[in-house]
Amino acid sequence: MAHIIDGKVISVQIKDEVKSMAEELSAKGIEPCLAVILVGDNPASQVYVRNKKKACEYCGIKSLSYELSAETTEEELLSLIDELNAHKECNGILVQLPLPKHIDENKVLLRILPEKDVDGFHPYNAGLLSIGKADLKACTPAGCIELIKRSGVDITGRNCVVVGRSNIVGKPVGMLLLAENGTVTTCHSKTKDIKAVCKEADILVAAVGIPKFVKGDMVKEGACVIDVGINRMDNGKLCGDVDFDEVCKKAGYITPVPGGVGPMTIAMLMNNCIVACRKQNNL
Ligand code: NDP
Repeated sequence: MAHIIDGKVISVQIKDEVKSMAEELSAKGIEPCLAVILVGDNPASQVYVRNKKKACEYCGIKSLSYELSAETTEEELLSLIDELNAHKECNGILVQLPLPKHIDENKVLLRILPEKDVDGFHPYNAGLLSIGKADLKACTPAGCIELIKRSGVDITGRNCVVVGRSNIVGKPVGMLLLAENGTVTTCHSKTKDIKAVCKEADILVAAVGIPKFVKGDMVKEGACVIDVGINRMDNGKLCGDVDFDEVCKKAGYITPVPGGVGPMTIAMLMNNCIVACRKQNNL
């Protein structure tokens, strides 16, 4: 039976570390500050934004909240971003996705100054990640690495397989595993014999968006399996991209859904706020 990696516990450890870093900054007269922008009234986004604000409060990070109507124009949103880019006290800008259809998400994300891009989505930060020099790393991928390392699993020299190549999860996870000296293979919808590739993995990261995609017979005995998937089932319950009941009998380590990667995303966002704040204050 696999060791279950508890993302709730690890995310609290990280938030506690962030809290003490925020206290150190505060002792120097610096208050880390995150601006959170929500456009429209998507209920899931409202919950995410509320959780981000709560995490800021826990960590001692000031949050500025902008809740805009669904009719907000692209120009209005871009001009708010310009204002926040110029705002000296605001260290990070987070635009909750998805945006209403009439707003071009790429244009909005590109407008955020890279040094305030605490989500790590800006192409500049994605580029730095690919050359191993990123300060602001995409939160969910960075959270996966923390889960692996803090569980005592060594990445160096291990076979790492990532299923999924999206710009927000699959690709950056692969880059980060490579930076940790893993031997990385990325799979996607055109990969041939994905089962054989996955079976070679000492560390397997699933970011596919298909419930229970990774089955027990795709996993090597003792592997570390990180499930990024969040799929809402018809019964309202959340399900990962890994068939937990089958895989936990083979894996050495496994993350549950919920309670695995999910809580890490916000913890890493909080960490990025401190990184951005320090950098902007030349610390
Ligand atoms: P995307 O839909 O953007 O990407 C899915 C990837 O999976 C694509 O690269 C796709 O390949 C690949 N894929 C799809 N079908 C198959 C298949 N049959 N075999 C092999 N590969 C396949 O999803 P995201 O990366 O945005 O998200 C992945 C999952 O992670 C989702 O469940 C999402 O909800 C969750 N998520 C969780 C977060 C968290 O905080 N825990 C944050 C972000 C996402 P191709 O490129 O060829 O199409």
